[in-house]
Amino acid sequence: MRYSDEVQSSLGHLKADVLVVGAGLAGLACAIRLARGSNGTRRILVLEKSAHAGGHLLSGAVLRTDALRQLLSPDEFAALPLGPAVVRDSFHALTPNGSFRLPFVPPKMRMKGLPLVSVSALGRALAKIAADLGVEILTGQTADNLIWNGDRVAGVETQGDLVLAPITVLAEGPAGLLSRELFARHPEMRGTNLQTHGLGFKEIFEIPANPDAAGTVAHTFGYPLGLGIYGGGFIYHVDAAHVALGLALAIDYRDPAVHPHELFRQWKRHPFVQRHIAGGTPVEYGARLVPEGGWHSLVRLDAPGAFVVGDAAGLVDTMELKGLHLAVESGLAAADAILRGGAIRREDVPSLAGLRRTANYRAAFRAGLPVGMAAAGLAWLTRGLLPAGRLPQRDERTCLQPLGDKPPAKAAPDQGPLDFGLDSDLYLARLRSRAGAEHIEIKDPAICRECFRRHAAPCARFCPAAVYEADDDARAIRIRADNCVQCRCCTLKCPFDNIRWETPRYGVGPDYRLS
Ligand SMILES: Cc1cc2nc3c(=O)[nH]c(=O)nc-3n(C[C@H](O)[C@H](O)[C@H](O)COP(=O)(O)OP(=O)(O)OC[C@H]3O[C@@H](n4cnc5c(N)ncnc54)[C@H](O)[C@@H]3O)c2cc1C
Ligand code: SF4
Ligand code: SF4
Repeated sequence: MRYSDEVQSSLGHLKADVLVVGAGLAGLACAIRLARGSNGTRRILVLEKSAHAGGHLLSGAVLRTDALRQLLSPDEFAALPLGPAVVRDSFHALTPNGSFRLPFVPPKMRMKGLPLVSVSALGRALAKIAADLGVEILTGQTADNLIWNGDRVAGVETQGDLVLAPITVLAEGPAGLLSRELFARHPEMRGTNLQTHGLGFKEIFEIPANPDAAGTVAHTFGYPLGLGIYGGGFIYHVDAAHVALGLALAIDYRDPAVHPHELFRQWKRHPFVQRHIAGGTPVEYGARLVPEGGWHSLVRLDAPGAFVVGDAAGLVDTMELKGLHLAVESGLAAADAILRGGAIRREDVPSLAGLRRTANYRAAFRAGLPVGMAAAGLAWLTRGLLPAGRLPQRDERTCLQPLGDKPPAKAAPDQGPLDFGLDSDLYLARLRSRAGAEHIEIKDPAICRECFRRHAAPCARFCPAAVYEADDDARAIRIRADNCVQCRCCTLKCPFDNIRWETPRYGVGPDYRLS
């Protein structure tokens, strides 16, 4: 679908008191709190690259609500589009053909009583609350670069215009390019460990009405990821007629033959998953990164003229795959720091204490699933004292090994609605495109030729949107930029850092509504 020319309209040069980049939960929470605390005395601008608020938001999502209750009035909270509360949760080990339900759900995975949400719908609702408070939310506007005044952030360049502000809040989600620019200029902000990421696939199925299932939640581990790839699946019956399901897998895998979307399909074909979607039709597809590094990978949350909040700062509790509450908490903390004219400390984001307790959790999985699980249990029992010290993370770009004898997996043909291939899945991301929005370039085709030889062009597999098409004979990559769902995986996983990817402009990309 092409988007109207309106989103291209020039902003001219603008000035704001506070500029927020990104209308996700982190950015919107910050803007709402600031607007309330400023009583109309500050001009607060939010730039959002999606054509409308919520269009690029994708999450599980089971929501911890404490921070939102703190942000909103009881009436505002009551009016939020929250789904049913979780009534039953369970945890399952999958083998290729079977499944085994664990007799208990690990403490951090217990979700009973928490509401299921569409983060896209929640984003739309929060954007309306912010706009009613006088926050200016400019959609279809991509912040391209930071503007610097010495080492101080002084605003952003957006689609050819300048937006100047004494304070810029970066709430652009995981692996954002502006945050990377900030950390490059202020390396002291970086965490002690490298950040690592998972690639999360999500699909929503419409199923024949099954009121008994509404509010049930199942998590899986094991098949098809095996012992070597960190990750797992989730199946959320978000209401009687819809199931949200997904698989998140760490992109620090070493085997270049891995094909994440095919793994997602294998997982969906498993009898345990098929049971939940029998007779259903997929209605939305998307993919997104999630930062997983945890405590030791957290960055400092402020710099001269800037704050970094939510996933942009790595604020996700990996053990429970939850970051929405941390996004809201950090948005609140940044707003409070701005209102009092001070800095922001980790203690201002209360749920970060939980990350400290599991500081080495994710890094322990480098040694495989059994060691990781044992370390997780140990950390929980000893309140984070063990494993002691700091375990390092694997570098997700350089960890790919040469391709072995086995040829890499090819995408299987489309097998109908319960097992869509990537092209059919992409149709469900409702991609908007527009001439002039090309944003991907191969830096050096000669490097790709070497990469075909060593790793058989992993971008042709790791991209969850089939943007990179491998021409094996010519050892060259063809780019289908219009397919991009903007997960940013290619900016981290190309083993030679040979892809120039810019954040897409003009409101192009997915149009999530239910995710
Ligand atoms: C598969 C999956 C399942 C998950 N499940 C859960 C769950 O069940 N519960 C939970 O709590 N968490 C879950 N999470 C994590 C959660 O989704 C994130 O932690 C949360 O969404 C982070 O919010 P954010 O506001 O920081 O970033 P985002 O939600 O990513 O929002 C960033 C916004 O910034 C915009 N943006 C980015 N760059 C620019 C730019 N340059 N210019 C303008 N706008 C820009 C984006 O379009 C987007 O709207 C899950 C994540 C995944 C991937
Ligand atoms: S773009 Fe990167 S991953 Fe793809 S073939 Fe070229 S070097 Fe390899
Ligand atoms: S091109 Fe890159 S950012 Fe776009 S979907 Fe593919 S991996 Fe993600």
